[in-house]
Amino acid sequence: MPNDYYQTLGVNKQDSPEDIRKAFRQKAMEFHPDRNKNPDAEEKFKEINEAYQILNDPEKRAQYDRFGHAGVSGGSGFDRPFDGSDIFGGFGDIFDSFFGDSSGRRPNEPRRGQDIQQRVSLTFEEAVFGAEKVADITKLELCATCDGQGNEPGTPVETCNTCKGNGQVRRTQRSLFGQFAQITACPTCQGKGKMIPSPCGICKASGLERKTRKTAVTIPAGVQNGMQVRLTGEGDIGANGGPSGNLYIQVDVAEHDLFIREEYDLIYELSLNVSEAALGIDTQIPTLDGTPQELSIPSGTQPNSQFRVKGKGVPHIHSNRRGDLIVIVSITVPTKLTKEQQALLEQLAASFKPSSETTHSDESEVDSNEKGIFDRIKDKLG
Ligand SMILES: [Zn+2]
Ligand SMILES: [Zn+2]
Repeated sequence: MPNDYYQTLGVNKQDSPEDIRKAFRQKAMEFHPDRNKNPDAEEKFKEINEAYQILNDPEKRAQYDRFGHAGVSGGSGFDRPFDGSDIFGGFGDIFDSFFGDSSGRRPNEPRRGQDIQQRVSLTFEEAVFGAEKVADITKLELCATCDGQGNEPGTPVETCNTCKGNGQVRRTQRSLFGQFAQITACPTCQGKGKMIPSPCGICKASGLERKTRKTAVTIPAGVQNGMQVRLTGEGDIGANGGPSGNLYIQVDVAEHDLFIREEYDLIYELSLNVSEAALGIDTQIPTLDGTPQELSIPSGTQPNSQFRVKGKGVPHIHSNRRGDLIVIVSITVPTKLTKEQQALLEQLAASFKPSSETTHSDESEVDSNEKGIFDRIKDKLG
């Protein structure tokens, strides 16, 4: 049984999209395999991502709420809906499966080629900034030996005498209700309209062969893990002169060791020590572009505080907009102290004591949280 997505992210069913985003960021940072060396971290990270893909999408979330995992199965990031012109969320041509060979089409009728799906691995940066990749694509092409004619080179292709190349024959039948005509595939040529006395040894008269070729694939900037890039007409060749199918490139994006991606934003964890957080610091943040970004951390910064660096995230697909870089602060408490640091911290500790004993205004500020609880209890009691 897959885990409950809400539980995985540690949120409730009523929580807002913003709550879910926040929870995802926290969890993703906690379990990112590069930071968390626990052997279960990678699996957990995947679960978190899967849960987020569903709960962050209002439609999928509604499906999940109504039908549970059955409502969204197979949909975890594999078929992200997308409105870009060369990006496509679904797969295949639905009409092909409805109107297959059994619909009474003539065998020599033009038919669209099959779609092909191929995975391509990308680095985190390639997905963000776009890339030119070369992939080995195996697809049906015209047979090079017979040039798609189906005959052994130098031997004839004859027009079928029975149907005169039509592929169909008309049969007249008599019944109690009179005479009626029935059109069926030509029995002589099986509807192909032609006869090939010496079939091509490579394609066995089909005129098609499967070949693997290195194919250039342009990945637009901003794609995400599991998305599909559509290359129109790059799939299997159509039969009898029909159009080719499409090629769908599904991208597998590697993780980054510094950044976590959330839609078009990048998340970076900035680790500060206690004094940096208390006093504030001017620091530099790495960016995916490579140029470090100045960031001023104010004094009194708390753990999990967030800072937003505009426009340093991921480019949107087919637009000039760009997401942001979100800096989340974590605070590390030193585990080893030099004698000097120990003395300084003790001095600091001592300096905190008298303030809480003498100045009551300070105390009320520090204890505002507890006061809040007391107030609430008082309110409850009337
Ligand atoms: Zn051939
Ligand atoms: Zn025929």
